[in-house]
Amino acid sequence: MKNICSFFSSLREIALLLKGRIPYQLVIQYTDRCNAQCPQCGMRASENYRRSTLSMDKVKRIIDYAATQGVKAISFTGGEPFLYFDEIVSLLKYAKEAGIKYTRTGTNGFMFTESDSVNYRSRITKIAESLADAGIYTLWISLDSAVPALHEAMRGLPGVVAGIEKALPIFHQHGIYPSANLGINRNIAEFPLDGISSSDVYHAFRSAFEKYYRFVIDLGFTMVNACYPMSVQNSNHTTLNPVYRAASGNRLVQFSSLEKAAVFRALFDAIPQFRSKIRIFTPRSSLSALIRQYLLGEAYCYPCRGGREFFFIDARDGNAYPCGYRGHENLGDFRELTRDKITIQETCRKCDWECFRDPSELLGPLMDLCTRPAVFIKKILHDRHCMKLWYHDLKYFSACNFFNGTIPPDYQKLSRFSFNTKLARS
Ligand code: SF4
Ligand code: SF4
Repeated sequence: MKNICSFFSSLREIALLLKGRIPYQLVIQYTDRCNAQCPQCGMRASENYRRSTLSMDKVKRIIDYAATQGVKAISFTGGEPFLYFDEIVSLLKYAKEAGIKYTRTGTNGFMFTESDSVNYRSRITKIAESLADAGIYTLWISLDSAVPALHEAMRGLPGVVAGIEKALPIFHQHGIYPSANLGINRNIAEFPLDGISSSDVYHAFRSAFEKYYRFVIDLGFTMVNACYPMSVQNSNHTTLNPVYRAASGNRLVQFSSLEKAAVFRALFDAIPQFRSKIRIFTPRSSLSALIRQYLLGEAYCYPCRGGREFFFIDARDGNAYPCGYRGHENLGDFRELTRDKITIQETCRKCDWECFRDPSELLGPLMDLCTRPAVFIKKILHDRHCMKLWYHDLKYFSACNFFNGTIPPDYQKLSRFSFNTKLARS
């Protein structure tokens, strides 16, 4: 309970929780411009469509309003946010000063290329200094494979992996501990995965995830996240209409329901060996729920909080949406969205977007505890496996200092999560 209280740190937040609500979280797409070529993404540079970037002023007004609404987390996404590095830094700083605790952004790492150039160190030092000054909480760096050549070919960014390796110690010296961000795709398993059984998919991905975790640890990362594959075109839900073009119909990120269950199971099984060595965002309770959703049905997952407390701000019109994938539900200007106007019920499980699905799953039992204690107790009695995973995740998140990317890992705390075969099997 101490862990939970430290996350819900104000009386206002605890009062919200008792009403079955949680603090807001915003993903602001600052731009849909990008300079990379990822085949699994509709925003790659070669896609021909009219690109958009929000104005700083508009975003600042959104942040002002967000602060009055007790928004806890703001992530600036793209496209490639660092094409507008100075603007993003000043918005991160603005959000921090407005009282937003968790400020985040990510990059494809294009600025880490050409790491042999004479001014590389001074260039990266300036970047690290600016981000540290802005008080960024989490910086994600994309890395989609344990094979540098494969990642670089997919992104169209030669030399980026060597540059990341050189940059990490510079970031660490400035109190920034970036997270590697794995976009799960078929390539990470390094061989064509068409026409093979779910069991083969499981084994290919299990060894790929283990190799990936070893690789990012050796590269110098102290945190790692996984983005679940977004293949909306392959979804059973025809009602999805992505505004966020990170979704793709490319075969690299298309998986059948059985394949998804196998991939999530592989990740679920790979994580325990590495939890004491690197801070891993991905909650196993969430993976377990997704596995059960794909094998047994939706009732096994908590519904997503997208459109209730989590929102996506689109670069094209600057409006709020329940998430990046429910484009037919334009909620208008976020600054006019008061809690009493939010009528969307939390029933959606139409995609696997981890940004919203993982926190929804983690906070689900907590909401039950506060608003439906009988349901919570029933779950403890009848779904011990799930509740044990959830409790273990909470303890792990606490040992990771809630993924505070401004401090190094506390390996003594993480050592409590050394590989435990009994738990790994559960
Ligand atoms: S995944 Fe990111 S880096 Fe790659 S094309 Fe899309 S927006 Fe650009
Ligand atoms: S599950 Fe969440 S992120 Fe996915 S479509 Fe539904 S509200 Fe959006």
